[in-house]
Amino acid sequence: MVGAGPAGLAFARVLHRHGHLVAVLERDPGPDARPTGGMLDLHEGLGQLAMDKAGLLADFQAVSRPEGQAMRILDTDGTVLRDWRPGPDDRANPEIDRGQLRDLLLGPLDVRWGQGVAKVVPGAGGGARVHFEDGRQETFDLVVGADGAWSRTRPAVSAVTPHYTGVTAIETSLDDIDTRHPGLARLVGDGSVAVYGVNRALVAQRNSGGHVKVYAQFRAPRDWLTHLDAADAEAVRSSLLTLFDGWTVPLLDLLRHGTAFVHRPLHVLPVAHTWTHVPGVTLVGDAAHLMPPLGAGANLALLEGAELAEAVVAAGDGDLDGAVRAFEERMWTRAERWARITADGLQRLVSPDPAEALAVFDRVQPSR
Ligand SMILES: Cc1cc2nc3c(=O)[nH]c(=O)nc-3n(C[C@H](O)[C@H](O)[C@H](O)COP(=O)(O)OP(=O)(O)OC[C@H]3O[C@@H](n4cnc5c(N)ncnc54)[C@H](O)[C@@H]3O)c2cc1C
Repeated sequence: MVGAGPAGLAFARVLHRHGHLVAVLERDPGPDARPTGGMLDLHEGLGQLAMDKAGLLADFQAVSRPEGQAMRILDTDGTVLRDWRPGPDDRANPEIDRGQLRDLLLGPLDVRWGQGVAKVVPGAGGGARVHFEDGRQETFDLVVGADGAWSRTRPAVSAVTPHYTGVTAIETSLDDIDTRHPGLARLVGDGSVAVYGVNRALVAQRNSGGHVKVYAQFRAPRDWLTHLDAADAEAVRSSLLTLFDGWTVPLLDLLRHGTAFVHRPLHVLPVAHTWTHVPGVTLVGDAAHLMPPLGAGANLALLEGAELAEAVVAAGDGDLDGAVRAFEERMWTRAERWARITADGLQRLVSPDPAEALAVFDRVQPSR
C-alpha cells in the first residue's frame, strides 16, 4: 500500500480487522508532519459504510459533528438566501476533522513513515517492484497506489496526469473564532456558510475547537499566484480583497482575519479514467480518480480502500488478480458517476451565473 491517506488507511485497517498485515509506505516522516486540513463529511452509504467495514462506526459517531451539516447561503450583500439545519437525528453526512479521522484509522496500524516511493514497476509474472526515493527496492505480490493526486504509482497502469480545472482555491483559517471574532462566529454558525458571486465563491466551515477554514474559489489562470510571493500573507490577502471587492464587509472580514494562505489550483483526472488491468498493481482514491473537492473524494477513497481489502480477504489463497480486476470495474463505475456530479458542480458553483449555484444547493439539499 503506497500512501497513508484515507484510502490507504481504510485498506490497511480493514485488512487488520480480518487478521492480515499490510506494509503501508508513507512519504511523510510522521503522522503530524503536515497540517491535516479541514473537515470531511462522511456520507451514510460511502465513508460511513467504510468506517463500519473497519469496525469504527461507533467511534466515528462519538467524535463526528452532526450539527456541522448546517449550511447557510448568503448573497454577496449578506442577505440570507438559504438556511438549512439538520434535524436532531440527522446523521446523513456528519463532519469530522481530518486529524481525528486519521487517528481513528491509524489505531493499531504500523505505518512505515518516511518511505517515499519513486516508482512502481509491474513484474513480468505478477507482483510489482517498488523503487523508493532513497534508492532501495522491494517486491510485493500486490502494490496498491493510494498516493493521491500526484501518484507515483499511477504511471505503472496509466499515462494520464491531472489537468487544471480553471478554478483556483485559496485556503485560510481563523482560530478561536468564538472569542476573537464573535460576529464572524455567528455568520458561520455550527456548520458552513457559502456565498456565490460571478465566477467566484467564498465558503467558510467550522471545524472543531473554534477553528474555521475559509476557502476563496475563483476562475483564474493556473499561475495566478506566481506573480506574488505565496509566503507573503499580506500580498495574497490584498489580492483576494481586490478580487472580492464589493462584497459586504463581514464576508471580506473572513479573508481580512485569515492567517496563512494556502494556494490550491484545482486539478482533476478525466471523468472516466480507467486503464487496462495490470496484474500486481492497482489504484484507489485520488490516485485513481482525482475530482473537484465537493464532498466525494475522501468518501470514495475510504470505501474503495475498505472494499478492496474485503476483496483481498475473500480471495484468500485463490484468485487475487481476478478479485482486484472485479474490484476495479466496480470502482470505475461508481467513480465515473461521482466525477460527473462533481465536475458539473464545480462548473455551476463557480460560474458566471450565481443562480446556478443556488440551484445546485436546492437540488442536493431542498430548503426546509
Ligand atoms: C480543500 C479540500 C477540501 C476537501 N473536502 C472534502 C470533503 O469535504 N469530503 C470529501 O469526501 N473529500 C474532500 N476532499 C477530497 C479529499 O481530501 C481527497 O479526495 C482524499 O483525501 C483522497 O484520499 P486519498 O487517500 O486517495 O489521497 P490523499 O489524502 O492525498 O493521501 C495520499 C497519501 O499518500 C502519501 N504519498 C503521496 N505520494 C507518496 C509517495 N510517492 N510515496 C509515499 N507516500 C506518498 C501522501 O503523503 C498522503 O499521505 C477535499 C479536498 C480538498 C483539497
